[in-house]
Amino acid sequence: MTSSLRLVWVYPDLLSTYGDRGNLLVLERRARLRDIGVESVFVNSDQPVPRDGDIYLLGGGEDLPQVLAARRLRADGGLAAAADRGAVVFAVCAGYQLLGHEFGGADGEPTAGLGILDIRSGRGDRRAVGEIVADVDPGLGVPVLTGFENHQGVTRRGPDAAPLAQVSVGTGNGDGTEGAYAGRVLGTYSHGPALVRNPGLADLLLGWVVGPMRPLPAERDELALTLRRERLAAVTR
Ligand code: GLN
Repeated sequence: MTSSLRLVWVYPDLLSTYGDRGNLLVLERRARLRDIGVESVFVNSDQPVPRDGDIYLLGGGEDLPQVLAARRLRADGGLAAAADRGAVVFAVCAGYQLLGHEFGGADGEPTAGLGILDIRSGRGDRRAVGEIVADVDPGLGVPVLTGFENHQGVTRRGPDAAPLAQVSVGTGNGDGTEGAYAGRVLGTYSHGPALVRNPGLADLLLGWVVGPMRPLPAERDELALTLRRERLAAVTR
């Protein structure tokens, strides 16, 4: 073992739709295949968020659990403190929205987020449901993003957040971009789960913690690549 990674799965009791926990499983697997030790911690919404994690994961959620999660995370302070000291945060959909300054609550009303990512979300006119395909910021070195989205939120970025990707199929943030990142905090509308469909994104997050990593042998990625091909073919056909 070269080092040990601490993964923190934040509020699985409130935020975990469409199998988002798969993101955690993929990070564990891809680290272990490289002989990096991993410890995963599940933190429910009645527990304090540990401040010493390396990668924090948040999934999607329904409107009310999202409001509750944001309220508890603000009161707890642990996630913001971890992001502040440079921990990696990877958040999906509801998790992504609540990292921002505000988002649309259960009736669309502006609701305070954590303010650790310079985005603001509100309620759009219609739900965005279906496959999403988007070209990732070339600076990140991650192949085309494939995912599944189901949200009514629309998201605007402020100057301190960069778009994660440019949409070619689907809706994403609602302005032609998808997701956002700043430093080591990264959010996306993609379920799928995102890191299962996009192992390059998983390796980006791991690399932010452990530094450059060797690529995995092709046979280790066979299933993920088959899934990617299948999902991309389903929408570009
Ligand atoms: N409730 C949020 C929305 O509809 C997030 C939904 C989700 O996480 N899938 O925009």
